Amino acid sequence: MKYIVCETPGKFALKDKPKPELTDGHALLKIHKVGICGTDLHAYAGNQAFFQYPRILGHELAAEVIAIGENDRGIKPGDQVIVMPYVSCGDCIACRKGKTNCCANIRVLGVHADGGMQEEIVVRNDLLIPVDGLTHEEMAIVEPLAIGAHALRRASLKPGEIVVVVGCGPIGLGLIKLAQISGARVIAIDAVASRLQFAKDVIGADHALHVSEDPVKRVAGITDDDMATAVFDATGNKKALESGIDYMAHGGRYVLVGLSKEDLVYNHPKIHAKETTLMCSRNATFEDFENVIAHLKEFPADSFITHRVHYTEMIGNFDSWLKPETNVVKAMVDFN
Ligand SMILES: [Zn+2]
Ligand SMILES: [Zn+2]
Repeated sequence: MKYIVCETPGKFALKDKPKPELTDGHALLKIHKVGICGTDLHAYAGNQAFFQYPRILGHELAAEVIAIGENDRGIKPGDQVIVMPYVSCGDCIACRKGKTNCCANIRVLGVHADGGMQEEIVVRNDLLIPVDGLTHEEMAIVEPLAIGAHALRRASLKPGEIVVVVGCGPIGLGLIKLAQISGARVIAIDAVASRLQFAKDVIGADHALHVSEDPVKRVAGITDDDMATAVFDATGNKKALESGIDYMAHGGRYVLVGLSKEDLVYNHPKIHAKETTLMCSRNATFEDFENVIAHLKEFPADSFITHRVHYTEMIGNFDSWLKPETNVVKAMVDFN
């Protein structure tokens, strides 16, 4: 069967290998679609520090069960499944508290172990999330949306809140829509005009502000000087991460979703005066996946996926997805 491996930074290869064999407690899956994520782009670009090569990338997976042994979940061949890519240990303190998303020994498919850029894959039964009535493309965007759903759950978002989402990449866009579905009004902020346009026109953000247009003042105007009761950073950019606090109301929550490699500096009196709840949001749990699945039909999946290629054409197209002018929101690779 065919698979695509990232051999070294900047180099993919389309190769052949024998089909994997079904083992106990596992399922053999046919991969239908693989969504391309920032993680995949970074791994290919070589700026994922802990990354080891060669690696089969891909963790946003829409698949179908080909074979599965006895299992107590009633999953059978032909079932459509999403794969939970965050493989947790079940033993550590985080897992014991149900926070499998930040397991101390977490392994992510497509990052620490081989992922889904292959025609067939064998995965543990307990990582399967069966779905009904979703297209393969919808299935493959559940994982990136679940990242946003987890961030909203961290903030215990309530209907009627006015929130700010900084960063209109795929994670930020998902956050915007899911926050609205939860009953919040959303102010989107970004430094790229075309992304803001997309956030407003396609996703339906209530307000879209460019960073150059004095967004602090404009958030104040929109909120009657209250500012936003929750702010979500989906940029991972140091400067954005440090200034996001300026959009936050007194008593608000600041949720860091995007990841920067640097130290962040906050003026203590400033964050103290607001009694800031500062929290990080990492990965997602089964509950977040299920929440997204329940609301997926309200999400404009079709326009969210901006680029589609067959796996035989992925390598030739991948470089272009790293370029901002391509305006990629979500690229989708077809493994049929
Ligand atoms: Zn992803
Ligand atoms: Zn654990």
